[in-house]
Amino acid sequence: TKEKSLNFIEQIIEEDLKNGLSQEKLHFRFPPEPNGYLHIGHASSICLNFGLGLKYNAPVNLRFDDTNPSKEEQEFVDAIKNDVSWLGYEWANEVYASDYFQQLYEWAIQMIKSDKAYVDSQTSEEIAIQKGTPTAPGTNSPYRNRTVEENLELFERMKNGEFEEGTHILRAKIDMAHKNMLMRDPIMYRIINKEHHRTKNQWHIYPMYDWAHGESDYLESISHSFCTLEFLPHRELYDWFLDQIVENDKIRPKQREFARRNLSHTVVSKRKLARLVSEGHVTGWDDPRMSTISGLRRRGYTPASIRNYADTIGIAKRENLIDVSLLEFCIREDLNKVAPRVMAVLDPVKLIITNYPQGQQEWLDAENNPEEEIMTYRKVPFSKELYIEREDFKEEANSKFFRLTLGKEVRLKNAYIIKGESVIKDEQGNITEIHATYDPESRSGSGTEASKRKVKGTIHWVSIPHAIEAEIRIYDRLFTDENPDGNKEVDFLEFVNPASLEIVKGYLEPSLKNSQEGDKFQFQRLGYFCVDKDSREGALIFNKTVGLRDTWAK
Ligand code: ATP
Ligand code: MG
Ligand code: MG
Repeated sequence: TKEKSLNFIEQIIEEDLKNGLSQEKLHFRFPPEPNGYLHIGHASSICLNFGLGLKYNAPVNLRFDDTNPSKEEQEFVDAIKNDVSWLGYEWANEVYASDYFQQLYEWAIQMIKSDKAYVDSQTSEEIAIQKGTPTAPGTNSPYRNRTVEENLELFERMKNGEFEEGTHILRAKIDMAHKNMLMRDPIMYRIINKEHHRTKNQWHIYPMYDWAHGESDYLESISHSFCTLEFLPHRELYDWFLDQIVENDKIRPKQREFARRNLSHTVVSKRKLARLVSEGHVTGWDDPRMSTISGLRRRGYTPASIRNYADTIGIAKRENLIDVSLLEFCIREDLNKVAPRVMAVLDPVKLIITNYPQGQQEWLDAENNPEEEIMTYRKVPFSKELYIEREDFKEEANSKFFRLTLGKEVRLKNAYIIKGESVIKDEQGNITEIHATYDPESRSGSGTEASKRKVKGTIHWVSIPHAIEAEIRIYDRLFTDENPDGNKEVDFLEFVNPASLEIVKGYLEPSLKNSQEGDKFQFQRLGYFCVDKDSREGALIFNKTVGLRDTWAK
């Protein structure tokens, strides 16, 4: 097999190793903000960082970027930990930006003392006006020349909760004419008088991302801090803040950027996913239509399929839209290997085998999965009255129709060859019963000449007296547009597909009776299905994960 060529992130690391960085110093992190559930975009970042950890035998921290108590919650922390573990990764340390609030505060005081930071008491509107434009310099705040003593006193009072939100901020003193607008005296702290999920009411000032992130990386001895491209212009500030605090003997972290991964027919943004939940378009963060890791899990995706997806798309320097059919390909490929085959009928019509003895039943052998190395079998019951799919029968059909029709033969999967004889219809002309005869010598696997007869089609079925009923949830794309997020003039919610969920009653072979949440099956000829978390014994519920083929009309 061909050795995979290094991606550009690996090239950066290899280059650093060549230039003298020792491999023991490699240390990565995955830094989610606990303001929502992780989505398929995060999976790319998780697989990148933890994948590098495995490749270089280096620790990877799970760092919660919890610097904004108005948006963050313990529920999200728990969900994120659960999702990263479920994907199959182990973090070296569970750490929080809030672990560093005291240290960050002390560094901020040092910066005030060395005249590198000041308290600004203008409104956010005034500050915005003074920012200037990319081509015109900004103007200095009237508070820029406050004395160190005054700044220290105000900052202390901000910390102690003496002020309303929005009345004062701490800013770095850099250059209001800097060509990089992010360097024009960026905000380091703002006042937020809300309870933090970890530090409770200890703090009334909270550090901004730019001030907290590189410093957290530094405190954890992170060697490479990989983030998405929108942070490229922040890199200069990341480095400037590090310049203020780094001592020579410690490793200096390096921020590098890769492209955000977007998926077609969905949104990958916690904020937007939160709106789908709060505005009732889905039942929750783990709704099987969601692009969240928890939604995909509930839909029937496996960790291997998601890792394989992330690995297949790899990482890139430019943003683009990945077609969701690639993700579907990955789950189909995995489930094909591992999901047991069973028979289920989702749109039933009654089939009566007229020459099969009334009251007789037999249990036939059915192969569990043709992909298995050593074949295993289960028993499925057969009787005179069966359900087949309505679309598997036509009274008259052309020679391309390889299913049941009058006067022609078809095989019932794992059972007998039958021939369509007649139909019974209701007053509206709908078929209510199909009558057929079977060839008693043709049982699958019986070894008789008749069992080896070739007929054109094979269809699935369930025995009516043995069938169990279940609720089947069939999903379509959540959005009708390939890129619901792509048009800035139109709110993405305009593209929500009103028919993304269809619920039908299905009839299943009885071997499924005791199936449990998360169990996955191939319903033969229909697709892959898994048991939903709402499922109960006697009231089974299945989610359709994906069809057997890519049938999405392009
Ligand atoms: P969101 O808008 O969904 O909240 P975010 O980038 O603000 O995304 P974070 O919790 O900060 O979310 O993300 C944690 C890490 O995952 C960051 O390093 C971020 O760059 C990365 N990440 C987030 N979304 C994607 C994506 N779509 N593709 C690749 N990486 C992503
Ligand atoms: Mg973020
Ligand atoms: Mg965000």
